[in-house]
Amino acid sequence: MKKIAIIGAGISGLFVANLFKENPNYQVTIYEKNNSIGLDEGYGIQLSTNSIKLLNRIGFNTLENKDKFNPEKIDFYELKQQKKICDLNISEFNSENCKYTTLKRSKLIEFLKDRLDNNLIKYDYDIKKIEKNNDQISLTFNENNKVICDLLIISDGVFSKGKSLISNNGIKPVFNNSIAIRGNISRNNLNNLNEKNISLFMGHNFHYVIYPVNNDNEAYNFIGVLKYELIAKELDNYSLFKEEVFIKGVKDKLQNKISSTILDNLNNIKCFPVFISKGFFKPGNNIFLVGDAFYAFPPSFAQGASQSIESGSELYDCITNYKNDFYDNRILKVKMINNRSKLNQFAFHLSNPIVVFFRNISLKILTKNKKFLANYLGRIYKN
Ligand SMILES: Cc1cc2nc3c(=O)[nH]c(=O)nc-3n(C[C@H](O)[C@H](O)[C@H](O)COP(=O)(O)OP(=O)(O)OC[C@H]3O[C@@H](n4cnc5c(N)ncnc54)[C@H](O)[C@@H]3O)c2cc1C
Repeated sequence: MKKIAIIGAGISGLFVANLFKENPNYQVTIYEKNNSIGLDEGYGIQLSTNSIKLLNRIGFNTLENKDKFNPEKIDFYELKQQKKICDLNISEFNSENCKYTTLKRSKLIEFLKDRLDNNLIKYDYDIKKIEKNNDQISLTFNENNKVICDLLIISDGVFSKGKSLISNNGIKPVFNNSIAIRGNISRNNLNNLNEKNISLFMGHNFHYVIYPVNNDNEAYNFIGVLKYELIAKELDNYSLFKEEVFIKGVKDKLQNKISSTILDNLNNIKCFPVFISKGFFKPGNNIFLVGDAFYAFPPSFAQGASQSIESGSELYDCITNYKNDFYDNRILKVKMINNRSKLNQFAFHLSNPIVVFFRNISLKILTKNKKFLANYLGRIYKN
C-alpha cells in the first residue's frame, strides 16, 4: 500500500483525498496548517459542469437542492447606465445530472470534508521541509513532526509553501493589480435583476457579479474586482486588507461605480489582493502540485475551484493508471483558461465609450453564436 501525503485541506486537497480514500492500494493523509477547517463563511462559489461531473463521482448529486442553485443565464449589464446588454444561456451546457451550480463555498468544503474519516486530516501541521530520499519523501512540519510518504500532493493554495520549498523559492505568484471585494446582499436590496440568473456588471476598471447561493432566496453573493495599485510594503502587510480604514477607502472608491442601494447594503465585506501565477513548476516523479498551488488564475472566468477539482481528478487517474502525462494535459488546459480569464477581465473593465460600444455589440453577437460558445466555454466545461 502506497502512502500519500497531501499538504493543505482546501478544495483541491479534500477532493483528491476523497478519490484516493476509496482505493485500497493507497493510504492517504491530509496535513493542514490551521487548527480546523472554517465552515462559517457565507461567500459563494460558481462551479461549471466540468467540476460538477467529477463531484458527482463522489456523491455531490445527493446534496440537498436547498443548499445549491442552478442559474439559467449570465446577464451582462453596463454599470454606468445599469442597462442590460445581453444574456448568455449558461444552462445550454447542462445535462440531466450535471448543471452549472452556485453555492456557499462553506457548503462545498463541508461536503468534501464530511466524507472523510476524522483521523484522515491532521491539523496544526505547517510544512517546513521537504526532502527526497530515493523513492520516498521525508516531510518535516512545525514542532519537528516528521512524516515519510511515497507520494506527495501539494495543494496548499496560491502562496504554496510546499512549492517554495521544492523550487527553492523559484516561482512566486505576482500581484494582479486588482483587489477582490466579497460580500453578501439580501434579495430585498436588488432591484430589476433576474433572480434566476448570474448578473455581471461591467464598468471602468471594475466589474462585479451577483448570484444566489441556494434556493432560499435569502442572501446573494457579491464579488467585485477593482483595479488597484498597491506598493510592496502594503502587499506584505496582509492584515491591512482587514482594517476598517482600508475597507472604507475601497467603499469610497466604489461610490460612483455602484448604486448606493447595493453599496450601502453589502454585508460582511472582505477585501483581498488578487495574486496570480506567472509560470509553471513541474516537480520530479513522485511529487505533484494541484489547485492554486499549481496555477492560480485571475478570478474573471470563475474557474479556480473547478480547476482545483479537475486537476485532482486528472492526477488521481494518472497515478492509479501509472501514467506520467499529468503536467502535459494540465498545462494545455491552464493556458486556455488563463488566456480567457485575462481577456474577460480586459473586456469587463473597458471605459472608452467607443470601445465599450463595440464591445457591447460584439457581446450581443457572440453570446448567441453557438460555434463561438462551444469553443470559448464548451472546451473548458468539457473534460
Ligand atoms: C475573489 C475570488 C473569487 C473566486 N471565485 C471563484 C468561483 O466563483 N469559482 C471558482 O471555481 N473559483 C473561484 N475562485 C478560485 C478558488 O477559490 C480557488 O481556485 C480554490 O479555492 C483553490 O483551492 P485550493 O485547494 O487549491 O487552495 P486553497 O483553497 O487556498 O486551500 C489551501 C489549503 O492549504 C492550507 N495551507 C496553506 N499553507 C499551508 C502549509 N504551509 N502547510 C499546510 N497547509 C497549508 C490552507 O490553510 C488551506 O486550507 C475565486 C478566487 C478568488 C480570489
